[in-house]
Amino acid sequence: MKHFSLKQKYSREQFIYAVNLLLLFLVYFTTARLGLKINAVSGFATLVWPPTGIALAAIFLSGRKYWPAIFAGAFLVNVVTGAPFFVAIGIAAGNTLEAVIGAMLLNRFGYIGNQNKLNDALTFILHGVVFSTIIAATIGVTSLFIGGLVSTAAYPATWMAWWVGDALGALVVGNLIIVFAKRFSLKKIKIGRTPEVMAFIVLFVVSNIAVFTHVWGSTIIAPSSPILVYALFPLLIWAAVRFGPLGTAVTIFFVSIFSIWTTFTGTGPFTLGSLSQNLLMLQGYIGIIAGTTMLLSSMIAERFTIEKQLLDEKNKDEAILESIGDGVIVIDTKGVVMLINHAASSMLGIGLDESIGQLYEKVVKIETMDGALLSGETRPYSQALRSMKVITGNYYFLRWNKKKFPVTLTTAPIVLEGTVVGVIDVFRDISHAQEVDKAKSEFISLASHQLRTPLTTMKWYTGALLDKDVGELSEEQRQYIGEIYHNNERMIGLVNSLLNVSRIELGTFIINPVPVHMNKIADEVIHDLLPYTDSKKIKIIGRYDKHLPEIKMDPELLRIIFQNLLSNSIKYSKEDSSIHVSVVVRDREVVISVSDSGYGIPKREQEKIFTKLFRADNARSIDAEGSGLGLYIIKSIIEQSGGRIWFESQINEGSTFYVAFPLSGMSAREARHSLVNNS
Ligand code: ADP
Repeated sequence: MKHFSLKQKYSREQFIYAVNLLLLFLVYFTTARLGLKINAVSGFATLVWPPTGIALAAIFLSGRKYWPAIFAGAFLVNVVTGAPFFVAIGIAAGNTLEAVIGAMLLNRFGYIGNQNKLNDALTFILHGVVFSTIIAATIGVTSLFIGGLVSTAAYPATWMAWWVGDALGALVVGNLIIVFAKRFSLKKIKIGRTPEVMAFIVLFVVSNIAVFTHVWGSTIIAPSSPILVYALFPLLIWAAVRFGPLGTAVTIFFVSIFSIWTTFTGTGPFTLGSLSQNLLMLQGYIGIIAGTTMLLSSMIAERFTIEKQLLDEKNKDEAILESIGDGVIVIDTKGVVMLINHAASSMLGIGLDESIGQLYEKVVKIETMDGALLSGETRPYSQALRSMKVITGNYYFLRWNKKKFPVTLTTAPIVLEGTVVGVIDVFRDISHAQEVDKAKSEFISLASHQLRTPLTTMKWYTGALLDKDVGELSEEQRQYIGEIYHNNERMIGLVNSLLNVSRIELGTFIINPVPVHMNKIADEVIHDLLPYTDSKKIKIIGRYDKHLPEIKMDPELLRIIFQNLLSNSIKYSKEDSSIHVSVVVRDREVVISVSDSGYGIPKREQEKIFTKLFRADNARSIDAEGSGLGLYIIKSIIEQSGGRIWFESQINEGSTFYVAFPLSGMSAREARHSLVNNS
């Protein structure tokens, strides 16, 4: 059964193939007969030969397997016209090869057939029209020559007529069929363009009648004046520009048929010589108008395609931009908003017309997290333009209704071929994240505060035990209770640090600057640290400016700063070394430096050193008990009170930490809590 059904399918295909072959044969034969009837040179070479186009299109569109129809058609038509058997075989072979090689060349050179590109049209003209037709003309005329039907003298004229006929057949008919097959679709027909098409058809018919017939005789221009042919040019250009490659091919087809017919019947501008001369001239004319309009229409189609691609790309980019959940604003180098996406306009509460084309500074007001309004050169936009670098940070954006919301903003310069053409701002509303952070800090603040009471109680009781307040302890008991005491102290330190971190992050710690002698505070801290320096045989050497004035500092915060820097230096120094502390006035600033010759900080980890909980690799092996919070805390204190901190460090050579404040001292802040000093 299975075998049978397969066989059936095979037979069906065979049947369709056979019908197609027959149809192609009939069309070929009929059109060829028609062509030969129109004044064939030497009886067989005609200037009008549509079969070439039909054969080329058939093989190009449906495949090489249709060659037998062409061969049979060409053979038969020549036999009927009176060619001896072998001459007809030769001619048929030439015509078949012309179509097969023509289609092969078209495929080889990437011809698609829709003429959406100039290249497509050029390939067709070159290979389908000019080259492949040389084959049929040469083989055909040579066959006639060998068969004694063409003399040496008549050879060139016969060849010329053959070649022109074939080339025009390919150019007019072949092109029409292929372009029709590749471009025609009912869906593409635009009803709205009917009036234009109607107007074109009317003018086209009128012009053709005027040019090629003597219906409207004129005393001004003779009916056969060659100048008349130009009258068709505007219409041909109209077709090429407005109706695409298919419309153009149809137009040319009709001009060809009409002009050949009228020339044949003796009217129109191509009637000055013998019929074959006239037809040769006419075919030259058709060749020129067909070729040029074909190139023109394909160029225009190519332009449309590119325009559409560009538009599609643009729409796609815009859709992507619109779909981004973050706010995006693009600003040109003059500070004018070029583009704003939906997320940005809804976050800012402005419409597109209120923002695009306006000055960015007017559209978006930006404040620092401390509430200072940024304008002109201080805005991230200007910084990015100036430095050509990406700027990131947290800011407040002001809505048009004056409400502000916190954002995390990335401002990047847009560089096109080496020049900055603008800036792109991408931002996200972080109100929610900030609230969550705040809730977390509040929780930590509360929890660590609560934890301090039991820890303090434990400190007192273990202290009392160690002080023998309730009697003597055995050596072992002393040792155990000593461990408890030490670890309890560590816990208190950690809890205090956590409390400080949460207060810093909530911005709720007091800064109360009063005039102080900074060297005195440094000395006090050094004194407190004696037990540690002594146990490691470390010497701390202080060097203070002799004329150091009193500076307005919060003594508690200053103590925390010294205490952290010095205890780090002690921790990360080898035994028997020295640490240098200095407080000097330099460039209208008071600068503290703490310098050790200890283990140093590895280069690759230096940029993370002020991050919360960060500890360098070497520090972890030197001291297992650190928390990685000290530097984060003092950096926050210093920056929130108007100073800055930085350091220099070389691995295994030592580190120097610097802290600088303006001579005016720390900036004051009122708040609910003080920070806790661990010492
Ligand atoms: P902790 O000392 O508790 O680890 P800090 O925040 O005070 O935390 O310091 C963070 C890290 O910075 C330390 O773990 C250490 O790696 C490095 N560091 C700080 N001060 C020094 C120093 N004087 N010498 C070497 N490394 C240091």
